[in-house]
Amino acid sequence: MAIHELGVKDLAERVRARELSASETVSAVFTRIKNVESTIQAFLHLDPDYARMRAQVIDQLPADELKNLPLAGVPIAVKDNMTTVSMPTTAGSKILSGFMSPYNATVVNRLEAAGAIIVGKTNLDEFAMGSSTEHSAYHTTCNPWDIRRVPGGSSGGSAAAVAAQMVPAALGSDTGGSIRQPASYCGVTGFKPTFGRISRYGLIAFASSLDQIGPLTRSVEDARLLYEVIAGHDPLDATSLPGELDVSRGPLPHWRDIRIGVPKEYDGEGIDPRVQERYHEVLAFLRDQGAQLVDLSLPHTRYAISAYYIIAPAEASSNLARFDGVRYGFRHPAADLLSMYETTRTEGFGSEVTRRILLGTHALSSGYYDAYYLKAQKVRTLIRQDFERAFDQVDVILTPTTPEVAFKFGEKSQDPLQMYLSDVFTVTANLAGIPGISTPAGLISDVPVGVQWLGPVLQEGRLLQIAQAFEQLWPSVPWPSVGGDL
Ligand code: GLN
Repeated sequence: MAIHELGVKDLAERVRARELSASETVSAVFTRIKNVESTIQAFLHLDPDYARMRAQVIDQLPADELKNLPLAGVPIAVKDNMTTVSMPTTAGSKILSGFMSPYNATVVNRLEAAGAIIVGKTNLDEFAMGSSTEHSAYHTTCNPWDIRRVPGGSSGGSAAAVAAQMVPAALGSDTGGSIRQPASYCGVTGFKPTFGRISRYGLIAFASSLDQIGPLTRSVEDARLLYEVIAGHDPLDATSLPGELDVSRGPLPHWRDIRIGVPKEYDGEGIDPRVQERYHEVLAFLRDQGAQLVDLSLPHTRYAISAYYIIAPAEASSNLARFDGVRYGFRHPAADLLSMYETTRTEGFGSEVTRRILLGTHALSSGYYDAYYLKAQKVRTLIRQDFERAFDQVDVILTPTTPEVAFKFGEKSQDPLQMYLSDVFTVTANLAGIPGISTPAGLISDVPVGVQWLGPVLQEGRLLQIAQAFEQLWPSVPWPSVGGDL
């Protein structure tokens, strides 16, 4: 097996055993990137010199230090909305072009302390607003399975980098589905933990009550390895949860001990019939394995997209007020201060970000606050309560991750509402704060499709065990041959 084909666990084991050096790993990864990146365009910044330097540091560690590094020598890509001192951080926006952060995001520090090597920053929809990565101010990213299709978004660069085997793992952020949806479109695993479980210090804020960082990997086990390194309390993030991580391990559960919730609202109208059929095949398969399928209703699901598209833009409009040409990145020259603010913002933000700022400012304005924002927050509570009731009856809920497979470039970019609907199955987990993971469920007409596992708050360990038990049984898919398998 070529080095770039190895996953996180195998790579780290080999580097720890000194069967493989971190330097060899990094050079294999950059060879792979050189071969496929011109086709895929997953990255906004790459830093081979920094990666080589970090690899040398790891290779020179004494054996007793090396053996304690859970991610020894593992190359990782980071979505470009997490700050790094070694590379620029743009959030895919022109308004942050050239911005160098004076500090690393906590997740970046934790990855590096665990022996990982950050190789580059991945492309995203501007400020993580979007579902296709077409809203990046820099370039689009292609789906490695079919370069006429989008990789999903907003963590499309991270998902494509993993699927094209440029890196074994990447970090994404998920405000309404941006880890799980691109994972499904690219045939990889994408995990969003409980809100507050992973520090957002250094994550450029989009919607602060929804944003969560998580891993995109080639297996559930690899997602767990990254999660255990980056999760846990951080005093630098006021919303970070205290308390121990759920690291439930041990033998994988027997399906006969698992009750799987099957919510009727995630099945039916608006779903591509092929996605629906695959979802039903997965359910039937699990029932044959002995799992108990429990029909459920999560009745407030139908309001989720509307509530999300009030709350997320409202919070975004407030978070994005800080980008005014004074402190960060891009500044448009103008005759006076007010016109400098105005022209910097009109030139610096793309159309989707501008649309969200307008929507959010309107929803928060006096006279409309109660009708929109407050109402949406109440709906959010109802959605959370739906899940709480469901988890009294079941261990896990299984849904399709997305209603469709990856769409073609341009298919939805002219119609924001159509684009918003691709998150209809993922936004609920963000509104409720619960963990969710998308795992591949095979191919449909040569492109991947995923299923989504949702679990109760803070039960990440158990959720990962169940997802892993599925992964071990369900036939895995081969990797895409990017540009004729270079
Ligand atoms: N696609 C959703 C949006 O546009 C979710 C984005 C995300 O999770 N960052 O808001």
